[in-house]
Amino acid sequence: MSNLKFCQGPSCHTYHTQDRLKGTKGSKTYQTRRRSYLHFGEFCDTRCYNDWFSKYGTKAVDHFGRLNEVKHLTEENAWHKSWDWDSSYDNRTYVFRNAITKETRPLTESQYNDNNYTLNTGE
Ligand SMILES: [Zn+2]
Repeated sequence: MSNLKFCQGPSCHTYHTQDRLKGTKGSKTYQTRRRSYLHFGEFCDTRCYNDWFSKYGTKAVDHFGRLNEVKHLTEENAWHKSWDWDSSYDNRTYVFRNAITKETRPLTESQYNDNNYTLNTGE
């Protein structure tokens, strides 16, 4: 039982499912779910996640930093990994492709699989 975490959904205990109904006859209550696995580590299901975000989302954005201006993805950071098939679809040719300039640059398979390998210079 100690590995179980409480769902953080503010209304979890108000949903009438059999697994939430606990206690002995005469003193049964609907209770917040406890789970070893929770969505995003906090919620028993997407309804509880949505309930939390509806209630606290704006406060959370204000707390962690509201975006107040347009962000730009520049050419320097528009590289993404891709591949092309040969005509018989037997072999892939791995490439970096720039989403803005459409330029491609060669890439090895190991570079493709290396999550830290990038041509992008920043955010
Ligand atoms: Zn829940």
